[in-house]
Amino acid sequence: MGFLAQKYLTEKDGQLWLTEDERENLKISYRIKNIIFEEQSPFQDIMIADSYDFGKMLVLDGVVQTTSVDGYIYNEMISHIPLCIHPDPKKVLIIGGGDCGVAREICRYHQVEQIEMVEIDETVVYASKTFLPEISGHLEDERVHFYYEDGVHFIKERAGEYDVIIIDSSDPVGPATALFEKEFYENIATALKDNGLMVCQSQSPIFHPATMKQSYERISEIFPTAMLYTAVVPTYPGGLWSFTIGTKKYQKLNPEICPTKETRYVNKSILSACFSLPQFLQQELERK
Ligand code: SAM
Repeated sequence: MGFLAQKYLTEKDGQLWLTEDERENLKISYRIKNIIFEEQSPFQDIMIADSYDFGKMLVLDGVVQTTSVDGYIYNEMISHIPLCIHPDPKKVLIIGGGDCGVAREICRYHQVEQIEMVEIDETVVYASKTFLPEISGHLEDERVHFYYEDGVHFIKERAGEYDVIIIDSSDPVGPATALFEKEFYENIATALKDNGLMVCQSQSPIFHPATMKQSYERISEIFPTAMLYTAVVPTYPGGLWSFTIGTKKYQKLNPEICPTKETRYVNKSILSACFSLPQFLQQELERK
């Protein structure tokens, strides 16, 4: 085992296990076949592991980000919902998104002319394009332009440029912490055109209701309309995951735009049903 594998994996009865420390009383373990890639970048520990039940996994600092078995659920849900709300998306910005799964989904929209992706860690993109084509699809579309820098600084220098901004961040620790701050959302609003909209992953309604609500409230304070929707992603703790949209101008979702022949999770029913929230979640958002 390499240095990183030793840090995050344990060997028991001849079996390799990757254990994700979720919280004080919860750990989730995956049985691993082998490690495909491991490198310590200036930002984080990066591993691609092949697991028995979830196929290939991108693991950052010991936390599973996406897998070849269930990654399409998250990537489709954070991409197609905003793209079907904006009436004419031409220029899209992705912040984070190093596994390239979101960029790959956005490329399915022929009306999109330019896709910019600002990812702090070039090694995540290299590893995903090289070893995780199930998610990245190798991504050779000429409309995609990569910037390797901190999304927080990148966005400060942009005004009225984008139709849609997708914040595909890791959890709010390390370099991703600032991607959940109010000032960052304000800069996102400035970077959007007058009818632009944003979406972010807003964490687990089960295990991180406070973070989810904080993101929702911050976005509601800045954008005239905020909307929260959910999907079930088996490898994310708690299963149920939330996403929050902030729009400058209310626009009705048009399911006809969605390239459903190419999607595996999103279809017309999901597009309209995902905004129906379970009772506990609705109450949590309404609670003062
Ligand atoms: N789908 C995943 C999830 O919810 O767990 C996250 C996808 S993606 C791998 C998250 C990416 O955000 C990582 O590659 C990380 O390097 C990048 N990232 C974290 N902080 C960032 C920042 N401040 N600016 C740009 N990218 C950032």
